[in-house]
Amino acid sequence: MIETALIVVFAFALGASVASFLNVVADRLPAGGSLVEPPSHCPVDGHVLKPYELVPVFSYLALRGKCRVCGSRIPARVPFVEFLGGVTFAAIGWRYGVTLDALLLVVTLSFLLVITIIDLEHKLVLNKVLM
Ligand SMILES: [Zn+2]
Repeated sequence: MIETALIVVFAFALGASVASFLNVVADRLPAGGSLVEPPSHCPVDGHVLKPYELVPVFSYLALRGKCRVCGSRIPARVPFVEFLGGVTFAAIGWRYGVTLDALLLVVTLSFLLVITIIDLEHKLVLNKVLM
């Protein structure tokens, strides 16, 4: 029982973190940008985010949805996708535990999440994500 609880908590944190990266992928791939450079930054003023501004879901809540430096709004999609990723990974961890099936599910759903975000925002399904 405690083992399942630990898996769920760890899977939520991992899923929220992966989804945070998937937000970056969905933002940068349609523009043809690099996924690793520049580091996470505010798209309005360009300041590089500090580690405490990068904690999935909690940073958005702590900053009340605004950039710490320039006060521009952070899209609600960012914490929503992070939370969705966390809940999805936690549910998979709860149902399948630490198994190959769970790994295949989270990888597949991560690709589907990126495809869905880009499709909703740009009306594109990129070959880069499909192949
Ligand atoms: Zn800013």
